[in-house]
Amino acid sequence: MAEPGHSWPDDWAERMAGKGCPLCAAIGQGDNDFSVEVFTGDVADVYLERRTRLPGYCVVIWKLGHVAEPDDLAPEQASRYWAEVVATGRAVRARFSPVKINYMTLGNTVPHLHTHVVPRYLDDPAPAGPIAWQDIFSAEPVPDADLHAQAAALRALLADR
Ligand SMILES: [Zn+2]
Repeated sequence: MAEPGHSWPDDWAERMAGKGCPLCAAIGQGDNDFSVEVFTGDVADVYLERRTRLPGYCVVIWKLGHVAEPDDLAPEQASRYWAEVVATGRAVRARFSPVKINYMTLGNTVPHLHTHVVPRYLDDPAPAGPIAWQDIFSAEPVPDADLHAQAAALRALLADR
């Protein structure tokens, strides 16, 4: 049963089909208020989240048009997508040394295929279990210079793969 006050939006079917999709609008536009661009892959772009308490938290976004579910992709395209997700996780591990990576492909608010690559740390808020969504984020952004240095390091690792 749905919790009271929670329901799928009335325009959900249209959102699934890409109407007004904010990720379609953001792709290829570089840095924005939420994230810093890390890497442009063959089928996906990688962004580093500005407001997070988990250093290295990236979002990988399918970039070749609006697609809602990974199973909407032909098998070869899906393989290319996951390869870029995995490469991002590998770069995050190399740069930040988390104790675990959580790969989260959700899309319950913005149904455009994207995967959260969430590094988990020894001292994070939910050791040995799933982290609450709000606990991933911080009120204040990471300083711009730090973000750009992190993005550059991840970009170099991804270019080298
Ligand atoms: Zn889209």
